[in-house]
Amino acid sequence: MAGNCKYIFVTGGVASSLGKGIVSASLAKLLQARGHSVTIMKLDPYINVDPGTLNPYEHGECYVTDDGAETDLDLGHYERFLNVPTSQANNITSGRIYSNVIDKERKGDYLGKTVQVIPHITDEIKNAVMKLGDSGRYEVVITEIGGTVGDIESLPYVEALRQMKYDLGEDALSIHLTYIPYLQASGELKTKPTQHSVKMLLSLGVQADIVVCRSSYEMTEEMRKKIATFCNVKQHEVMQSLDAESIYDVPLMLLEEKLDIVVMNKLNLPLSGEPDLDNWKSFLHKLKNPKTKTRIALVGKYVELKDSYKSIAEAVGHAGAVNECDVEIDWIHSEDLGNGDVASILSGVHGIIVAPGFGERGVEGKIQAIQYARENKIPFLGICLGMQCAVVEFARNVLKLEDAFSGETNGNAKNRVIDLMDNQVGIVNKGGTMRLGAYRCNLVEGTRVSKIYGRTEISERHRHRYEFNNMYRAQYEENGMIPSGLNPDNDLVEIVEIKDHPWFIGTQFHPEYKSTVASPHPLFCSFIEATSVHAQVQSEVAEA
Ligand code: GLN
Repeated sequence: MAGNCKYIFVTGGVASSLGKGIVSASLAKLLQARGHSVTIMKLDPYINVDPGTLNPYEHGECYVTDDGAETDLDLGHYERFLNVPTSQANNITSGRIYSNVIDKERKGDYLGKTVQVIPHITDEIKNAVMKLGDSGRYEVVITEIGGTVGDIESLPYVEALRQMKYDLGEDALSIHLTYIPYLQASGELKTKPTQHSVKMLLSLGVQADIVVCRSSYEMTEEMRKKIATFCNVKQHEVMQSLDAESIYDVPLMLLEEKLDIVVMNKLNLPLSGEPDLDNWKSFLHKLKNPKTKTRIALVGKYVELKDSYKSIAEAVGHAGAVNECDVEIDWIHSEDLGNGDVASILSGVHGIIVAPGFGERGVEGKIQAIQYARENKIPFLGICLGMQCAVVEFARNVLKLEDAFSGETNGNAKNRVIDLMDNQVGIVNKGGTMRLGAYRCNLVEGTRVSKIYGRTEISERHRHRYEFNNMYRAQYEENGMIPSGLNPDNDLVEIVEIKDHPWFIGTQFHPEYKSTVASPHPLFCSFIEATSVHAQVQSEVAEA
């Protein structure tokens, strides 16, 4: 690859949740559209070694990569925008950095030296960033630093950034994302918090090269000039990032601001022609101009925080665009179903997704939602725990197996139709011990899934401990629930479907992780199509 790898660092200030991940992914998209190979990594300042052990209420969904890393949900955005797989190397936490350093210290690698934040922790951070660049696979590595500048926790990352900027010179660039608040009383946008935030970064030795301002209203040239004057940047290096209707608008909005051109000029990357965003624009056009409408229920136990199901919601959005269908999601709390009238809560939905999850809470509600979908022939997609609940529901209500449970909810039940495999029994550590990452799956010819995928060999990502119990397989098949996807290496059931139903599929894997703008997931596309057919039929019935 010609030239040195270029490094872009994205920090945030003033407030959290400004969308550093989306800005990073959007910039990466623009550079990719101009023909550059780009990857994005996230540095997370918390002490957990990975987010796998975090409750979704803390940080939203845990995103899983092909190589089985449990990562921050921003990696999902990176993949959805770039359509390039990420890996463990794309997400590093302070916990992992410290754990690596402590391991080395125990091995004696530091030869008796006092092990310190500077240089040992900062070197470990720098190595993690440079490793991606040194792989030779990318022309540009974008590094998003989690948290807000000034936080105690992110200080070592900002210090590593300072050192890398010094070492790399013109091959490194720092983008600072801030917030421009609007004061209702005086009707004004205010730049002072941005000025202070850029100064805070400067006090740590890092001069921002580009300031991106998140704002709800258009910024004037006067405001840009003011920020430029106070922050040692040029006026055209101050950009606005307005609130967007869809996250997929952001690359085009930043294109208007010429973020890509300013970045490429600063990094001495050749500018050639216009970025190729035709497919992106056609996706957006379909997303915004739907011809039909459906309503689906997403049944889960973390629905208060929608980020807990980020990839599912995005995959549904991609599938909606493909079908030119406006999909409204009803977020249904599984515990409400367990106590209430399932039919009235779910009445009028054209499809039901039962979400992944862990533990006992809300499981009975999920099982009732599935019974409702099965009996009323409503399109149903069960993901991971959602698939396991479908298997339990079928056992109880069709196979008439009393006392059917997943071993996760009742380890003493007589019929544990979902259970731990031998290799999971006895594992006590919670971190990184599940069946994680990509596994091969063979689809049985003639089944619904083989038609949907249009092939018989697939690979999908997993994150679970429990499995379909093969001792019951024949009973399921005889009664119409077909194991239609099997793991070729160990014969585990990865997909079940019901023959006598318009669309009923449960997957032990998580299809949502692999849905991207450039490649929407076939299962979601087919599911949304089925919900739109169901909506059509329902409206014809209502009119008749
Ligand atoms: N709790 C279930 C298991 O561990 C399902 C996990 C999930 O839905 N991701 O097998």
